Amino acid sequence: MREAPQDERRFVGPRRRLIELIRDRGIQDLEILQAFDRVPRHRFVPEGMWHRAYEDAPLPIGWGQTTSQPSLQALYLSVLRPRAHEQILEVGTGSGYLTALLACLAGRVYSVERIRELSKRARKALDALGVMNVALLVGDGSIGWRKYAPFHGIVVTAASPAIPPALLEQLADGGRMLLPLGTLEAQELVLVQKEGGEVTTQTVQSGCTFVPLLGRFAWPDEVRGGER
Ligand code: SAH
Repeated sequence: MREAPQDERRFVGPRRRLIELIRDRGIQDLEILQAFDRVPRHRFVPEGMWHRAYEDAPLPIGWGQTTSQPSLQALYLSVLRPRAHEQILEVGTGSGYLTALLACLAGRVYSVERIRELSKRARKALDALGVMNVALLVGDGSIGWRKYAPFHGIVVTAASPAIPPALLEQLADGGRMLLPLGTLEAQELVLVQKEGGEVTTQTVQSGCTFVPLLGRFAWPDEVRGGER
């Protein structure tokens, strides 16, 4: 990933403080903390939001969608813990920020987003940083990305009423999937593991609120979550 230009130095301090906050929340993994240092979050949010980019808060990214708070994304990374030889599927590219963080740790990241404009913006931000190991697709991620399956890890960053069967199918044996499951109002972050054909689930965190996953194996298109 390229070095930040001179005029971006003003974000270095706020970024360091955000990393300290994430560490204080119990994320000690150096490679994960380094990823937060390498990826400038402000480049993934609209310019009007740059002054808030290093707050540990969800931020609006347009089209009624939000990027999650960084400490929650750190939790995603620490539970999923992608390795350098692994390929990861992300459902809900959104801003592309988590995509870039995943790309620091994984071998290759495949990310699907249903809103074309968001995917385009994410592509621009990733290209500007010189992130090479990411493939983006515009479409319904609730059916996965069969062409590149199976995946060692799958992350879903929008709330789902149930585990989308196509995603479970595209999860490699020994793989893990992290997704918010529940109602439109509240969800639990659930870790799904597949081992020898057997599937186990465990709750990682409760009381989360994500934007809804819309699509064939999620909520119908008429359900609009609005700004959250
Ligand atoms: N990790 C992202 C989170 C974005 S919010 C970030 O940090 O910015 C979740 C995203 O999921 C939204 O952009 C929404 O458009 C997208 N989404 C919802 N349903 C989807 C589906 N079926 N397929 C692909 N993307 C979907």
